[in-house]
Amino acid sequence: MRVDDRLTDYVVEQVVRLVKTPSLAGHTDVAISHVEQELAKTGILHGRTGRGALLATIEGREKGAQRALTAHVDTLGAMVKELGSDGSLLFTSVGGYALATVEGEYVTVETGSGKLLRGTILFDEPSAHVSKKINDTKREFENMRIRLDAEVRNQKDLDKLGVTVGDYVHFDPRCEVTETGFIKTRHLDDKAGVACLLGALKALVDSGARPRLTTHFLFSTSEEVGFGASAGIPPEVGELIAVDMGAVGKGQESDEYSVCICAKDSTGPFDYALRQRLAKLCRSQKIPYKVDIYPFYGSDAAVAVRAGLDAVTGLIGPGIDASHNLERTHRKALAATVRLVLAYLEPDGRNH
Ligand SMILES: [Zn+2]
Repeated sequence: MRVDDRLTDYVVEQVVRLVKTPSLAGHTDVAISHVEQELAKTGILHGRTGRGALLATIEGREKGAQRALTAHVDTLGAMVKELGSDGSLLFTSVGGYALATVEGEYVTVETGSGKLLRGTILFDEPSAHVSKKINDTKREFENMRIRLDAEVRNQKDLDKLGVTVGDYVHFDPRCEVTETGFIKTRHLDDKAGVACLLGALKALVDSGARPRLTTHFLFSTSEEVGFGASAGIPPEVGELIAVDMGAVGKGQESDEYSVCICAKDSTGPFDYALRQRLAKLCRSQKIPYKVDIYPFYGSDAAVAVRAGLDAVTGLIGPGIDASHNLERTHRKALAATVRLVLAYLEPDGRNH
């Protein structure tokens, strides 16, 4: 099935909308609602799971084995841990990242009453004219602060603003789509994967095709904290593919222009036959792809298996540079991922 420029534009649009929609683990409702709205346009059957993830199902042409694909809407961020005596905020991470990658970031603190307060993540002695520590101090949560853009001088002022421990802190995505085809923004992991699944579903529905086998699509909500797809995938599923970022970097095969097929991540090798089949689909349909190993990586595929899903698993996704940092990919990688998902679904119609 063809993935033309218009469909790729749609996927890029979805990426942009999603990265601008805050969705930290435990607080993913708005992002899930957005995915829900997109699914409603396609008429695909869908519903929320007990934990608030979204499960969509398309009936296959053939009875028998079922398949599932999953991508996660939750991203990285922080939570207020302590109200500082000087009116600044100490924070704890939601998801895993190096503090160096968020220093200087503009953030929005969401209070319990829904008030949105702007601020900046800074080292606690950030001024070059005041302290020499900025150059040689290892960044730790103890020496990082959120400076709120409000006249707060002490804890009492914070109380008056309604800031409390447990308030969510959303990082600015800094989303930019360049004329050269790049999408650079935080949270591509894994909103790019979610957008690719939406793109594949749209292409499928628009063409009136059906997958060969009944296929479920799980949009999970807590992958970054380790238990995304631990529930929600129907037990009939015999094959699960996580659609999540390909790890680009030094020594890696993955790039920003291809769909990456993971051979092995930190949790071990993926199913060999499935991996071979995915690579074969890429070759036969001339989809740019890379096979790679991700040294520090776990995905919802492993989470589902650990939770007891009796299925073989695979991991594919657009190559993303500088993961859990200022991420970037190219629209070519998004298009390649959508094409592989569509090829995997084995839709009926002219090309199959
Ligand atoms: Zn991810």
